[in-house]
Amino acid sequence: MIKVFLYALVVTLLLPPLVFTSEKLKVVTTTADSADLIKVIGKDKIDVVSLTKGNQDPHFIEPRPSMVMKVKNANVLVQVGMDLDMWIQSLIDASRNSKIIYGSSGYVDASEKVEKLEIPTGKVDASMGDIHIYGNPHYWLDPENAKPILETILKNLSAQLPSDAEYFKNNYKEYLHQLDSAIAVWKNKMAPFAGSKIVTYHNSWPYFAKRFGLKLVDFVEPKPGIPPTPSHVISLIENIRNEKVKVIIMEPYFNLKVAESIAAKSYSKVVVLSPSIGGLDGIDTYLDLFDYNINKLVESLKDK
Ligand SMILES: [Zn+2]
Repeated sequence: MIKVFLYALVVTLLLPPLVFTSEKLKVVTTTADSADLIKVIGKDKIDVVSLTKGNQDPHFIEPRPSMVMKVKNANVLVQVGMDLDMWIQSLIDASRNSKIIYGSSGYVDASEKVEKLEIPTGKVDASMGDIHIYGNPHYWLDPENAKPILETILKNLSAQLPSDAEYFKNNYKEYLHQLDSAIAVWKNKMAPFAGSKIVTYHNSWPYFAKRFGLKLVDFVEPKPGIPPTPSHVISLIENIRNEKVKVIIMEPYFNLKVAESIAAKSYSKVVVLSPSIGGLDGIDTYLDLFDYNINKLVESLKDK
């Protein structure tokens, strides 16, 4: 696989550079969520492309030559950071694009201003599974965290295109209004279910759970990134029964059969939510993402 990648990469790099026809700022993001959040500020001044779709596990992305070309041509590269999208580093290296390397003006770490959860204390080692030393990186699943992300993006775009700074600021403010009224609606919908206990497949929902008052009891994965083992499944089923957990939340790319068999044996049910834009049909924006997830979750917490 690596060999094929390297070969294709060399071939791609030998091609003449693409000629840009537009004057727009070229933005590449590692996830579709960052792409949407930069689009709402940059609008027609930028061209945005995301390297992944929401139906892919963002931890494990196979670098492809077509991605190198995108990164090579970028003025700005937005990453989730906190070691979630570590695969981007090989693409940055391969692209030899000095505009977007660490420390340069086009390097944007969207987590910069976010208040992080689950920063490990003490020694971290491989036995702990896919532990992130900077804390849990799934922060965009709290809609309030769109605000620090947007702030970081606004700062960068304004520095890239100073003459459009006022325009970006207005777009930012306008979006904050939309976001705030949407958050109020989501909080209202979730309010009756405050304190509900949930199990999630991967530990990707702690920010979401905290925002909406849900109690995270356990995970289908015994450790982050490690598939469930028979012994863990047995203890999980017991835990779900004892704690009277109503729902098991999972992403579309995990094993539905495993989750459903656990749910059937523990009198709970599985709800498939989207971790990112494009994870399920009809989720095209960051606001869609929460509209869908909140409605779906409310539905399954309601009927018991
Ligand atoms: Zn994770």
